[in-house]
Amino acid sequence: MRLNGEVKRVPNELQHQTIDRIFEQNPSMEGVYPGKSRYILEAFFLDSGGLELFDLGCTPISRQVFGLGGTAPRERGFKITDACIGCGTCQRLCPQHCIEAGVPFSIHQKSCLHCGRCFEICPAKAIVRR
Ligand code: SF4
Ligand code: SF4
Repeated sequence: MRLNGEVKRVPNELQHQTIDRIFEQNPSMEGVYPGKSRYILEAFFLDSGGLELFDLGCTPISRQVFGLGGTAPRERGFKITDACIGCGTCQRLCPQHCIEAGVPFSIHQKSCLHCGRCFEICPAKAIVRR
C-alpha cells in the first residue's frame, strides 16, 4: 500500500478525543502507551491525497488507485506515445507482460509495476512518465 497526501494536525481541542478513539480501535496500543502517556502522541489526518493498493500475489500484479478527500487519483507510471515504431521490445521485456501490441503499443496500467524497464529500453524514446 502506498499512501500520500497533505498532512494536517488535528486541532488542539480534539487531540485527546481523537487519540482516545484511535486507541479504542487499536487496543494493543494501550500496552505501548499505558495510561495518560498516550497523549504524548500527536493526531493528524490526511486532508487530500491518494492511496494505491497493490496485490503482488497474483500475476500480473494488480493495482487500484483511489483519491482521498475529493482529490482525483494521481496518475503515475508510464505511457506509450505516438512516437512508438512498433518494434515490440518493451512487450518482450516487460516483467509483468502488461504491454499490448497496437498502434501505438499500450500499457495495461492496472498491472504495471512502474519498474521503468520499458522506459529505459525503448529505442524510439516513445515511452514517457505519466
Ligand atoms: S519499445 Fe518503444 S517503439 Fe518499441 S514497441 Fe515499445 S514503445 Fe513502441
Ligand atoms: S513500467 Fe515495467 S511493468 Fe510497467 S509496462 Fe513498463 S516494463 Fe512493464
